[in-house]
Amino acid sequence: MSEFRKDLTTCAYCPNTCRPSYAANASLQIESQTPSALSLITLAVLNRQLPLDAETRQALSRRGPLEASVGHCTYGLNMPAVIDAALVTWIDHD
Ligand code: SF4
Repeated sequence: MSEFRKDLTTCAYCPNTCRPSYAANASLQIESQTPSALSLITLAVLNRQLPLDAETRQALSRRGPLEASVGHCTYGLNMPAVIDAALVTWIDHD
């Protein structure tokens, strides 16, 4: 789990330097849908600060910018894979 937290924390505090990977599509510019935002939401779930309820799942399902970041991450991270693995591991151990 710690490797997921490390990557999630890196992404949560990153100023979305992968943004040029989705800059051409204005509909993807919503701050609550950036990789950083989804990483912060995932960390909040892991820390039990946020329930993994329907509202949270819906927020985490808005993955356009997250998917667009693959191959464009400053840190070489695959954040869709990190978020999926972190949540699956968390659910399995909850
Ligand atoms: S995916 Fe990479 S570049 Fe984009 S916000 Fe997360 S850490 Fe930053």
